[in-house]
Amino acid sequence: MSKNSTVSVADFLDFMSRKGLNTTAQRRVIAEAFFEFPGHHSLEDFYQHVLKLDAGIGQTTVYRTLKLLCDAGLATEIHFNDGITRYEVARPNSHHDHIVCLSCGKIVEIFDQRIEKLQREIGEKYGFRLSGHLHNLYGICEDCRKTEQKD
Ligand SMILES: [Zn+2]
Ligand SMILES: [Zn+2]
Repeated sequence: MSKNSTVSVADFLDFMSRKGLNTTAQRRVIAEAFFEFPGHHSLEDFYQHVLKLDAGIGQTTVYRTLKLLCDAGLATEIHFNDGITRYEVARPNSHHDHIVCLSCGKIVEIFDQRIEKLQREIGEKYGFRLSGHLHNLYGICEDCRKTEQKD
């Protein structure tokens, strides 16, 4: 993996050759599309995006490539309370959590040193050394609250 914290398709090609796996042209298109399409995408949303680039790519190939990107540590699966798996580009050495609007589905990335520190302290208090956490906040965003007031 490259030294800086930005992952790219080169890291994917690296991973595939180390694993002795064949990087087909389609897998390459999918990986490139993934790195160039920032956000938190469900398989369906991402697949629709890939179709615009190459209408011949099947959803199964997109799914398998996303799994490979996760295995390579280049993509991260995110789970919110709607049961839909989303994928985002991994950012090694950097961490964030999410706030989700239950009305419009907007996803905002958050990082707060105080929450991170508090979580470590809670881990210690219970005798755990933490290896990770899932911290999702849910609510209604400002835009949606404004619209609701007008109705
Ligand atoms: Zn909203
Ligand atoms: Zn995120």
